[in-house]
Amino acid sequence: MEKTAGTETAGGLPADVVAFLYVRPRSLGLAALGERLVALEQLVRRAAAAQADAVREFAARDGADAFGSPSTACWLQEHTGVADRESRALVGLARTLGRLPAMAAALRSGAVTVAHVRVLSAQTRHVPAAVVAEAEPFLVTHARRLDSARYLTFVKHWVATAAAATYEADSQRRYDARWLSVAETYEGMGSIQGMLDPEGYGVVSAALEAMLAANPYDDARTRDQQRADALVELVELARSHDLVPTTGAHRPEIVVHAPASALAGNGAADVGPAGPPVLADSGPLPPAAFERLACDARWRRLVLDPAGVPLSLGRATRQVPASLRKFVALRDGHCRYPGCRRRAAFCEVHHVVHWRAGGRTDAANLALLCRYHHHLVHDRAHALVLHPDGTLDVTRPDGTILTSRPRGPTGLVSA
Ligand SMILES: [Zn+2]
Ligand SMILES: [Zn+2]
Repeated sequence: MEKTAGTETAGGLPADVVAFLYVRPRSLGLAALGERLVALEQLVRRAAAAQADAVREFAARDGADAFGSPSTACWLQEHTGVADRESRALVGLARTLGRLPAMAAALRSGAVTVAHVRVLSAQTRHVPAAVVAEAEPFLVTHARRLDSARYLTFVKHWVATAAAATYEADSQRRYDARWLSVAETYEGMGSIQGMLDPEGYGVVSAALEAMLAANPYDDARTRDQQRADALVELVELARSHDLVPTTGAHRPEIVVHAPASALAGNGAADVGPAGPPVLADSGPLPPAAFERLACDARWRRLVLDPAGVPLSLGRATRQVPASLRKFVALRDGHCRYPGCRRRAAFCEVHHVVHWRAGGRTDAANLALLCRYHHHLVHDRAHALVLHPDGTLDVTRPDGTILTSRPRGPTGLVSA
């Protein structure tokens, strides 16, 4: 590896490099600034190649051992201040460029980026070395003309045709590596982590992105929160359409145990002598959450003896009968929170005046709300008024009043 030594400054950088770097952008005209951006990108690429060459040479001469470090990566961490991961990535890049001489030359001349190198290295990891070596000049020609994202597609295609067996084995390996873990944290949150094969990931991410795209632009939730809600909504959608397999005789249900006093028509008796409502397997529910779940729930009467042993279990009845729910869905069309367009299939039925406070379960007291807005209305103290013509006024905690109108049977009127 031949290197031209510049004039070294005290900081280890040649004086002409330092002079080049310290030009102030504000002192330049726009054309010169553009040229400078191009030049700096060239500098970054060539510097990355020079760094990789130096690391490889250092490793080949057992530099770490000579200076009493356990490995090149460790020496880099100690002496350059980079983190563990970065130092390993540097050593990896140095090795990769050693295997791909044409790619290394292209990086050294500034024609490709480090991202191109990583794409080629990662995608051809399981392709026989001789096949890669033979095709490398061809592969580098395309790296020079494509950006690294398009280059990824190109290299995948090349591997699929030039090394079909490898590609198939790779695909199978990726498919076999899929996993999903669903676990409850000690706080009762649900931790979901996993890895999907490319096809499965494509299906899931496209569905989640489509759900997010339908959200109002001024949605107060973070993107991550919206994605979490979208996942729950998709599962709810399948569940509400009886598409989720039943276990035994029952559909999967969220079970809330509540004493009869919590269900009585007097709003005052939130917590009877039997204690607050309890979400099975999780813990006591705050009153707002219990009311929200109770808005659109199925009920069964579970009779306990004084010692708490179940004696009998009643028939399941829906708080909102299916025909009434259908009517409200046709009238409202989508979530009735002003500005929200989440479709009826993703919505829950909300009692504008809660039935525990004497509100009736009929259309004049019911409105569709998506899961997010149902949360908001119950947990953030929004006051709702549903007028006889179906107009809904929402008074937000800050006092502002928003209005939405029902879609109507023709679907022409919308808020
Ligand atoms: Zn509700
Ligand atoms: Zn909504």
